[in-house]
Amino acid sequence: MNIHRSRIGLASIAGLIIIIGFLTTSVTSYVVSTTSAKRAILTNELPLTSDNIYSEIQRDLLRPVFVSSLMATDTFLRDWVINGEEDEKQIRKYLSEIRKKYNAVSSFFVSEQSKTYYHPDGILKKISADDPRDTWYFRVAQMTDDYEINVDPDMANTDTMTIFINYKTYNYQGNYIGATGIGLTVKAVKALIQQYQEKFGRTVYFVDDNGQIVLHGPQYSGPTNLRDRSGLTKDYPNLLKKDQVIEFSSDGETILLSTRFIPELRWILVVEQSATDLLSEFRSTLQLNLAICAIVTLLVVFLHHQTVNFFHDKLANLALQDSLTGIGNRRALGLSFRQMTAQAKRHFEALSILLIDIDHFKQINDRYSHLVGDHVIKQTVKRIQGRLRGEDTLCRWGGEEFIVLLKGAKLQIAAQVAEEIRAAIADNQFVSNDTKIQITASVGVAEYLPSDSESTLVARVDQALYVAKEKGRNCIALEAAPGQEPTASPSPAKGK
Ligand code: GH3
Ligand code: MG
Ligand code: MG
Repeated sequence: MNIHRSRIGLASIAGLIIIIGFLTTSVTSYVVSTTSAKRAILTNELPLTSDNIYSEIQRDLLRPVFVSSLMATDTFLRDWVINGEEDEKQIRKYLSEIRKKYNAVSSFFVSEQSKTYYHPDGILKKISADDPRDTWYFRVAQMTDDYEINVDPDMANTDTMTIFINYKTYNYQGNYIGATGIGLTVKAVKALIQQYQEKFGRTVYFVDDNGQIVLHGPQYSGPTNLRDRSGLTKDYPNLLKKDQVIEFSSDGETILLSTRFIPELRWILVVEQSATDLLSEFRSTLQLNLAICAIVTLLVVFLHHQTVNFFHDKLANLALQDSLTGIGNRRALGLSFRQMTAQAKRHFEALSILLIDIDHFKQINDRYSHLVGDHVIKQTVKRIQGRLRGEDTLCRWGGEEFIVLLKGAKLQIAAQVAEEIRAAIADNQFVSNDTKIQITASVGVAEYLPSDSESTLVARVDQALYVAKEKGRNCIALEAAPGQEPTASPSPAKGK
C-alpha cells in the first residue's frame, strides 16, 4: 500500500515538475512576446505614424505660409492701406486673384487703422475686441512673431474648419498696419488620416486642448470628446499634458494609443491601434504550447508509471524468487502460508505441509562438485513439481530442503503425495555430464491446525522429517498425533 502510494506520489511529482516547467516557459514567453510587441507598437510604430502625419502637415503648411509672407510684403497692399483704403474694389480684386492663384479657400486683410475685415467678396465686417470670434486679430496684433497658424471656423465660408495663416503687415517705417493671409481647408489632412487608417488599421484623429475631437477620418465612430472614450477615464487628464503612449482596455478590446502635440495647429494628434488581433495570435501560440504541455505531461506520466510498475513487479518477483530453481523462496512461503491458511479457515478446508530434504547431499557436492549439486537441486524441483497440482505451493526452504503446501489435503492424502514425491526422486537416476547419480530424499508430513502459526507448523513437520532421517532416510514420516511419537513409513529400498 505504501509502495503503491509512493509510486503515485512519484508520478505526480514528475507530472508536476513538467507542468510547472512548461507553464513557466510558455507563460513567460507569452508575456515577453506580448510585452515587446506592444512596446514596439507604442514606442516605435504609433509615434512614427504621428511623425509622418506631422511632417505632411508641416509640408502642406509651408506653401501657404510663403504665400502669406508675400502678401504681407506686397507693395500694392501696403500702399493701398497707407493711402487710406480708398478703392475697395482694388483690394477685393487683389484678394480674389491670390485666392484663385494659390487655390486657397479664403484670403483676407484686416486693417489696424479701420478695423475692417476685407475679403475677395467685399467687406466682411468691422472687427471688434468685444466679439469672441475676433479675438484672433487682437492676439496677432500683439504677438512678437511675424505670423501664426490658427484653426478656426471660417465665417466667410459657412464656418468650415479652416487653417488660417495670419501674417503681420508693416508700413515702410516698420509700423504695424494690419494682418493678411490665406485660409486652407483641412481636406488634405483628412485624406492623410484616411490613408493611414486604411494602410495600418489605425485610428487617427485630432483633439483640441479641451479634448474635443476636431478632426477625424470618415469611418470614425467614437465620442465627440476624448474624455468620453470608454476605458480612458483614468488616463484622460494626462493625455492632454504632453506626448503620451498608453495601453488601455475598451469594451474588452486592448487599445494602444499615442498622442502628440502639433504646435502649429495647437491640436493633439491621437493615433490608436487595437492590439486584440495581435494578442490573439500570441494567445493561440500559448494555447498550442499548453496543449503540447498537457500531452507531453500525460505521456511522460504514463511512461513513468509503466516503467516504475515494470521494475517494481520485477523487483517484487526477484525478492520472492529463488534464483537457482525459479520457485518461491522462504519469503514467498510466508506469503503463500498466510493466503492458504486464511482460505483454509474461511472454507473449513484441510491444508497439509511437506518438508523434503535430499539425503546425504553434502556427499554429492563433495564427490561431484557444487555445480553438479546445483543441477541435482534443479532436477529434484522438477520431479517434485511433477507430482503437484496447480493449487499447491512449492518453495525452497533452504539449501536442499523444500516445503510443499497441499491445498485441501488431510494428513493421509498428504502422506500419499509425500510418498509419490519420494518415489519420483528415488526411482530414477539423475544425469549430469554423463554422470549418473542416484539420490534419495526424506519427507516430513504434517497437517495444519487452525491454531498453527507458520513457525509451529514448520516445527512439527521438521520434527517429522527428523524422524524420517532417523529411520534411515528415503522414507516419509507423519507428524505425531498429540501425545505420541511421529511415525515413519518403512523405507522401501533402504541402501538403494
Ligand atoms: P542429510 O541426509 O542428513 O540431510 O545429509 P546432508 O548431507 O544432506 O546434510 P545437510 O543438510 O547438513 O547438508 C546440506 C548440504 O547442502 C550442505 C550445503 O553445502 C549444501 N548446499 C546448500 N545449498 C546448496 C546449493 O545451493 N547448491 C549446492 N550444490 N549445495 C548446497
Ligand atoms: Mg538439509
Ligand atoms: Mg540433506
